[in-house]
Amino acid sequence: MQYLSDQEACNAIIEVGKRLYQRGMVAANDGNISCRVSDDALWITPAGVSKGFLDQSMLIKMDFAGNILAGICKPSSENAVHLVIYQQLAQAQAVVHAHPPCATAFACKERPLAGLALEEARISLGEVPLVAYAPAGSKELAAHVGEACNDHRALLLARHGVVCWGDDIWQALFKIETVEHFAKILLYSTLID
Ligand SMILES: [Zn+2]
Repeated sequence: MQYLSDQEACNAIIEVGKRLYQRGMVAANDGNISCRVSDDALWITPAGVSKGFLDQSMLIKMDFAGNILAGICKPSSENAVHLVIYQQLAQAQAVVHAHPPCATAFACKERPLAGLALEEARISLGEVPLVAYAPAGSKELAAHVGEACNDHRALLLARHGVVCWGDDIWQALFKIETVEHFAKILLYSTLID
């Protein structure tokens, strides 16, 4: 398996953070991003920092057991959600969690994204299931994500937001964008009768 170098992973995380922030997928300090760099290590964003204003000194390197290997900041409080995906899926190279408004509205109503006759969304995403509610940052939430991530690359977290993983970090970002786009179309379609 070919992995990104530490430098490449950090650069990509910073770039993805800017795009999430500039596109309104996160507000203030919301969301978290990680990227794998070996069979047992990843870089992840810190807690309490806007993803639009990251620099390399803020990022944290962790192993899959949650030990910190490098970095001075506290890792994202959702790091267990990221770790469980990497622990289970060798092909997961990156994980992105955000609160895109329209998809998160579905998550708040505890409705999966399903039932739209939109060919492209069906092919690219399939159904985006709802992961049962558990408090943000809890082990329970990570366990729920662990149960669902084998069959789906995009998940709605009940009353919370969206988490996606990909074969590379751009694919994980594009999944978040596609989920939000799909959610918007689904919402608009309910307004037409
Ligand atoms: Zn969140």
